[in-house]
Amino acid sequence: MGASLADARVAAAGRDACDPLAAIRDAFLLDDRTIYLDGNSLGPLPRRAAAKVGATIEQEWGRDLIASWNTAEWFRKPWSVGDRIGRLVGAAPGQVVVCDSTSINLFKAACAALRMRPDREVIVSEAGNFPTDLYILESAGRWSGGRRLRLAGRDGALDELIAADGADRPALVCLTQVDFRSGLRHDMAAVNQRIRAAGALGIWDLSHSAGAFPVALDADGSDFAVGCTYKYLNGGPGAPAFVYAARRWHEAIDQPLAGWIGHADPFAFELGYRPAEGIGRFLCGTPGIVGIAALEAALDVWDRVDLAVVRTKSEALTEAFIAAVGRFADRHGLELATPSAVAARGSQVSWRHPRGYAVMKALIADGVVGDFRAPDVMRFGFTPLTLRHVDVIDAAARLERILDEERWRPFEGGRGSAVT
Ligand SMILES: *Cc1c(COP(=O)(O)O)cnc(C)c1O
Repeated sequence: MGASLADARVAAAGRDACDPLAAIRDAFLLDDRTIYLDGNSLGPLPRRAAAKVGATIEQEWGRDLIASWNTAEWFRKPWSVGDRIGRLVGAAPGQVVVCDSTSINLFKAACAALRMRPDREVIVSEAGNFPTDLYILESAGRWSGGRRLRLAGRDGALDELIAADGADRPALVCLTQVDFRSGLRHDMAAVNQRIRAAGALGIWDLSHSAGAFPVALDADGSDFAVGCTYKYLNGGPGAPAFVYAARRWHEAIDQPLAGWIGHADPFAFELGYRPAEGIGRFLCGTPGIVGIAALEAALDVWDRVDLAVVRTKSEALTEAFIAAVGRFADRHGLELATPSAVAARGSQVSWRHPRGYAVMKALIADGVVGDFRAPDVMRFGFTPLTLRHVDVIDAAARLERILDEERWRPFEGGRGSAVT
């Protein structure tokens, strides 16, 4: 470690000594040799998750069997767990349900929003949005009478597309608040204002926001939102996602996957579909109780956490990483792909490098786990519940050594794994 990084490490150790989140790290299973900078892709395991899932399986399923739909309140889980997520994203109770995947929830919300704007043809998003969002929006447009997708970065600037007139007036604006590649963060309140002024409806994808910083869906005037729970929220691989709709729209929502759990009275077994009152009409089929149990173990940890404190630490971690890598970035051709203004980013830092794939593989082999996003982005996620300030400096030091000594060379030539 160079002298200047050594100084930075001393300062980081000082911050760790008075970190209000330091004790939370123990709530997760982590191995001290690994610096895990991929909690923005798959959050680590809450230690209590195995016991919680075990109890759900052995007692509730194993012994109490079907009675658990009532006695363990399985049937209420989409709402009760939804409200716990609602607290983390600034939604008052009764506006969030936990169900399905982010992709499916986006389809339901997009089709519902498009039905509420039948006389407009256009869906606005961004060319850099996460592919599933773009694929789903394209499909929702196709299944909603042939709406057109216009993308900021391909068809014009975002503000212009939102404010477009005539045949290009948007019905729906769907954005991921934090860009999965660059980490750029939208100002939710400001964008919502533009969407409202245009007479359109908005859907926010909070996959890289929920659990990363305070989100104020209600206060910022949002219409709809979706997001996943297996990234910053630590709900486990493929954990159930969530969907939010502002109360003012509930009665107007007509979503396409009209399954029996979203019916007003599922156990009346009526011949025709009548949607539930409220946010429950976004539900479709039977909730996955075992997956929800793991998510609840994660939310038990979140109940002890103040998201304003999370954001303050997140800013310190990303600032420190940018400064530490910045010391050798030019020398090695690393280009910062994340906004340098702290308010304009989420909780990740991305660096472009022409050998990014091989460098990331070498880093992972050296115990620093980040990920790679084509074509050349090395992505580092900073999860304040589990990371120490010194981890950031140690990760930068290992990156510097890999570049100085060209330890990435053996990893060149290939994208071997299905998941990068
Ligand atoms: C991770 C992520 C998803 C994931 O969708 P799934 O349906 O859970 O596979 C969707 N959108 C964004 C922006 C994401 O970052």
